[in-house]
Amino acid sequence: MPELPEVEITARRLSAAVAGARVESALAPGLVALKTFDPPLDALAGRRLDGVRRIGKMLAVDGGDLTLLVHLMSAGRLQLFDSRASLRDRASRILVRLEDGHELRLREFGTQQRAWAKLLRSDAVREDEAVATLGPDAYPPPPLDELGGLLDQPRHLHPLLRDQRTIAGIGRSWVDELLWTARLSPFQKASELDGEARERLRLACDEVLGGALDHYEEVIGDAIPDKLPMPLQVHRRAGEDCPRCGATIQAIHFKDYVMCYCPQEQTGGRVLKDRRLSRLLK
Ligand SMILES: [Zn+2]
Repeated sequence: MPELPEVEITARRLSAAVAGARVESALAPGLVALKTFDPPLDALAGRRLDGVRRIGKMLAVDGGDLTLLVHLMSAGRLQLFDSRASLRDRASRILVRLEDGHELRLREFGTQQRAWAKLLRSDAVREDEAVATLGPDAYPPPPLDELGGLLDQPRHLHPLLRDQRTIAGIGRSWVDELLWTARLSPFQKASELDGEARERLRLACDEVLGGALDHYEEVIGDAIPDKLPMPLQVHRRAGEDCPRCGATIQAIHFKDYVMCYCPQEQTGGRVLKDRRLSRLLK
C-alpha cells in the first residue's frame, strides 16, 4: 500500500509532468471507482491542470476550481502515460486525457476494486469527509507537545499510528520501520509512553519517512514505477537478522497484514504469539 513517502514522490513527479497541461477529456471506465457525480467527471475537460499534491495518503489533482481527489488504497497507482489506454484494459479506473497526448491514469491491480476518486469543487476539498477527518501529517512530524496530545490514547501503538484520524500518512509498512527505529513495542500503549519515548518516536518519523523520501528523490526518475523500491529494514524481513542487533526479526500474521519487529530491542526479549501459527497448531 502506498504510504506517505510513496504518495508524496508520486505527487511531486506527476505535478512536475502535468502542471500547465490542458485536459481534453476524462472518463471512468471502472465506474465504481468514481464516488461522486456532481460535478460530472467530464467537467475537467478544457481545464488547465495546476499540479498534483498529497493530502495524507491521497492525491489531489487540481485543475482550476475543480480537484480530483484520489485514494490509491492498497493496489492503485496514479501514473502518466504517453499514449492512451485501451478501453479493454481492465486495470483502468479513471483516465484523464491531456491535449498534449499524455494520459493520467488511475489503475488498480488485482481483483478487488477499492481505489477511488472524487471530483470535488476545490473549495470543498477541505470539508470532504476523507480530508476533514485526517490528523496532522506524520512527516514532517508535529512538534513534541502536539504529538504527545495525539498519543494520549489507551491504544496499542501499531494500530494507533496507522489510524489516519490520529496522524496521517503511516500504514502497514512504515509503522514497523518507525517502531523499530524508535525501539518501541507495537503493543505498547500510546498513553503510557514517557516524554523520552515520544521524542524517540518523533525523531523516527523524521528520520524514517524523510529518509524514504530522500531515497525516492534519488532513485525514481520522471516515471513512477508500478512497484517502488521501498528502503525497508524490518518490514517483510521476518527470519532475517536485525540490522542493528543481529537478533532474528519476528513476525505476527494478521488476516490481511504482517507485523514485523525485533524481539531483542522492542519487546524486552519476548517473542509474541503469532495468531496464524497458534491457529494452525490447534
Ligand atoms: Zn534488533
